[in-house]
Amino acid sequence: MTCDEAIKLMDGYLDGELDPIANQTIEQHLRECQKCDEAYKTHSALIRSIGKATPYYKAPSGLRERIQASLREEIAERSPRSVSRNIPSLFPSLIQSKQSERRAVLFGTQWNWLALAAAIVLAAIIAFNLAPRLRRPGADQFLATQLIASHVRSLMANHLTDVASSDQHTVKPWLDAKLDFAPVVVDLSSEGFPLVGGRLDYLDNRPVAALVYQRRKHFINLFVWPAESGSVSADKRITRQGYQLLHWVDSDFNYWAVSDVSDNDLQAFKQVFEKQLPRR
Ligand SMILES: [Zn+2]
Repeated sequence: MTCDEAIKLMDGYLDGELDPIANQTIEQHLRECQKCDEAYKTHSALIRSIGKATPYYKAPSGLRERIQASLREEIAERSPRSVSRNIPSLFPSLIQSKQSERRAVLFGTQWNWLALAAAIVLAAIIAFNLAPRLRRPGADQFLATQLIASHVRSLMANHLTDVASSDQHTVKPWLDAKLDFAPVVVDLSSEGFPLVGGRLDYLDNRPVAALVYQRRKHFINLFVWPAESGSVSADKRITRQGYQLLHWVDSDFNYWAVSDVSDNDLQAFKQVFEKQLPRR
């Protein structure tokens, strides 16, 4: 993890929104990098002091009563009949007390239930609409970090391929034998993206296939793993640290192409790859 990535993930880390692996990665970086560790300490001290210094006001009881009273009036105006009928049977002991008190107790109860119901509905709306949106960017960013790291490692450590072959009929059986799924392997030499080979990799907490293609002097790692059934996702393009990432999903597989070729080249790669897929 680079300092830039650590800083980007810092807020999510401080708010406890990262997954365990991202947490570990950032913690390791903080142990090793004094600069980021200091940024982390400053951030968390700031959060603590804001938490302590922010005044917390309880609404004065008069305000609460005024809101409840206006709600009671509102409800009473809408359903005067059902109310008068229900009071004696629901609250027989209240009949002796003054009428205003009776109304207050009855509608006080209704008001609490209304407030509770409203709070539940509001919480559900927030959870459904907001939570996935808050979560996704962090998850994608972390996966992008893993994908770039894997791409760079494959070029650096002389471990571009486990099976070096431009023959799809060599690469595919090799991968099929090692994985619990059978990725589609196509050679795209005639389109200017010759197949170089295949590799096993580990991403997003699972073994994945990495198909290696070449574009002039550049390499494209195409990471493939099974898509969750019914998962629909628009194409995603991420540019980071000079690398292009392109993500798409078809009916069976998740694809992430990572390379230092231009964005246009990567889009073209995706198009010719999809065109060569066997029709099912
Ligand atoms: Zn750092």
